[in-house]
Amino acid sequence: MFWSRTSVKLSYASPRWICRQNLISQDTIAFTTQNSPVATMEMLCDAFSALIEKGGLAGRFLAGIGLSLPAPIDIRTHSVVRPSVLPDWAGFDISSWLSARYEAPVHVEKDVNLMAIYEHKRNFSDVDDMFFVKAGTGIGSGIITGGRLFRGAQGGAGDIGHIQFSSDHAPLCRCGKLGCVEARAAGWALARDLRAAGYQAENARDVVHLVDQNKPEAIMSVRKAGQVIGEATADVVSLLNPSLIVIGGTLAQTGDFLLAGVRELVYQRCLPLATHNLQIIFGETEVDTALGGAALMVLDEAFGKDSARDFLQRFAESRADS
Ligand SMILES: [Zn+2]
Repeated sequence: MFWSRTSVKLSYASPRWICRQNLISQDTIAFTTQNSPVATMEMLCDAFSALIEKGGLAGRFLAGIGLSLPAPIDIRTHSVVRPSVLPDWAGFDISSWLSARYEAPVHVEKDVNLMAIYEHKRNFSDVDDMFFVKAGTGIGSGIITGGRLFRGAQGGAGDIGHIQFSSDHAPLCRCGKLGCVEARAAGWALARDLRAAGYQAENARDVVHLVDQNKPEAIMSVRKAGQVIGEATADVVSLLNPSLIVIGGTLAQTGDFLLAGVRELVYQRCLPLATHNLQIIFGETEVDTALGGAALMVLDEAFGKDSARDFLQRFAESRADS
């Protein structure tokens, strides 16, 4: 399942999907943060059950459920960490609530972390230190260090969207601070500037559409966004010394207009030791990488050294019952 700010995308995949993106069934439902967590979860369960039914999978063994959320997650409590776009969800144990209904383990993770997991496992499994940047309607990042996802003390690592650069006329961010990376380079900020220039734009997809139409203001705004993201990424490179930076998210569809700015600032600001063997490339844009990451997370958790025995026992019991 994949949540954005306005919708929930539910998908049901077999393990074979990990190899060839073979989704069995998929649906999208409207979502609003106005509803309580329980009301939202009930709506989500109804839709997920209908999806299983539609896919002809009712009664089949469910390996697990992976949930991707646009918010930092405390993996000890399986709940959203504040502040986030889901303010009423702090402390609500999403995982326990769902697993009680489906008798399957539920794993919850921030969307950008799942995108990083997908890119790392699917495309760059030989890279130990990787930095993934999601440039979409919002901006965030996922950190792979020593071959593993780095979450930080409370799941808040990688929040580059709210690093602030002070300047005259620093724009107001949706977090309430001035001059954040998001307020300068996220899809919503570019759309804001393009509206002021007379274009119709609400989000990152609209910005990509205007770039595809060769609108000069849109191209220039994406170039500048690349430089802002590059400025923040340069500090990350100095701190973490990754060997690979992968740029994903909707704005990655603008191609070199975005990438040129990122590369420019990273190579300009970092010392040669940090950039000597550094690659900066685009990730996959044609697949839903957060969804893929959620499926990979479920499989990883099922066959982890602490959980494989439980998984096999559950599987054997399901076979005996059927
Ligand atoms: Zn901010």
